[in-house]
Amino acid sequence: MTYPSNRPPDRPTDAAAGIEVTSDFERFAQRNDIFTRAFWDDRIRSRKTDAFFASYRMEATPRRGDGFTQRDFALRNASWLISDLISDRGSESGEREGFQAAIRNDTPVAPMQQAVEDPTRMAEEIKRIANFFGADLCGITEMDDRWLYASRVDTRDFSETPNDLPEGMTSVIVMGHQMEEDLVATYPSALAGAATGREYSHEAAIVMQMAAYIRNLGYEATASMNDTGLVIPYAVKAGLGEYARNQMVITPEFGPRLRFSKIFTNLPLTHDLPQQMGVRAFCDICTKCADACPVKALPYGPQRLAARMSQPSRAYENGHPTRRNALASGSSCRRTAPSACGSAPSTGTSQNGITGSGSGSPCPRGASWRFGLTASAAGAKSQPIGGRPPRDTGPQSHDFHHAAP
Ligand code: SF4
Repeated sequence: MTYPSNRPPDRPTDAAAGIEVTSDFERFAQRNDIFTRAFWDDRIRSRKTDAFFASYRMEATPRRGDGFTQRDFALRNASWLISDLISDRGSESGEREGFQAAIRNDTPVAPMQQAVEDPTRMAEEIKRIANFFGADLCGITEMDDRWLYASRVDTRDFSETPNDLPEGMTSVIVMGHQMEEDLVATYPSALAGAATGREYSHEAAIVMQMAAYIRNLGYEATASMNDTGLVIPYAVKAGLGEYARNQMVITPEFGPRLRFSKIFTNLPLTHDLPQQMGVRAFCDICTKCADACPVKALPYGPQRLAARMSQPSRAYENGHPTRRNALASGSSCRRTAPSACGSAPSTGTSQNGITGSGSGSPCPRGASWRFGLTASAAGAKSQPIGGRPPRDTGPQSHDFHHAAP
């Protein structure tokens, strides 16, 4: 399925999700996200960005003590290993799976299709299966092609190429993967990248296993991480969290400290609805992240996901030429304030629009949202699946609590 560049900007659940899409809405070309631009756009690319990406390929130069030792780089790079194996396997054809291309199907669709007589029970089963494979959260929303990238990236030359999905997808299964809190607390150290890499590696395994399960039932399923479309609006529509002033999804369970993955499928499933958890209400009286942002890229005023999609921002007005296009994506601030943040991608956080960590953020909701004014709302939220037991946090010889230099 090849999607047109623009779609009618209206869906019944938009308002409940805090989404208002204006008539000049444009779908986002993934080529313009900050991580991709760091390879082709001379305004972004620098010796530092090259070194940042190279350091994930065992070329790290240990330096500056805690958080940047050889052991810290070793843990980070090892954490990325499974994700790297998947993202590298299609490199010869320009498909960086999980990041700039959907993950290839390793399982054929079974010729005999399992009948689904009750989509609600099937949705409950899918959430149990997601939990079984290791997802921390799972919600389901309708297929919405507004959030698909207008084009994906051919990583051989970083040109635009069609962003295709099989015909007839009806649902998006969104899964949340919490990042290790103690590691996240060490941002912007190299060691903190272990929290990111570990979840990407988990994500890769989980979305592939989920897709394989659905395909064995006789239905289409495309496994996706950061590729193919923006996950933030899908996560909000699936009731997993609310869009916050820091441009991330804040969840009751983990605050913004998680990553999201997704499965596009035609398996008959009942959809969840957006939930009001008090996040945006709290953001309306809190400006801590906006106050802390050095280039004032975060918005003040009432939170509206829609406004971020259509209105020029302060950063754009100050001369960042890609800001408007990036806003059309609903992507995070670091992608849209390139001179301040994109030039130093290891020093900030992003919920990769991909979605992200919330790490290092001043947000008082960094760990969870289960208290105060939101307690009742959080308790009322439809809880797709229970959290899994805490994972082993790795060798104890690593001091995850040390401060970044
Ligand atoms: S710091 Fe305050 S305004 Fe910013 S996302 Fe967190 S709660 Fe919302």
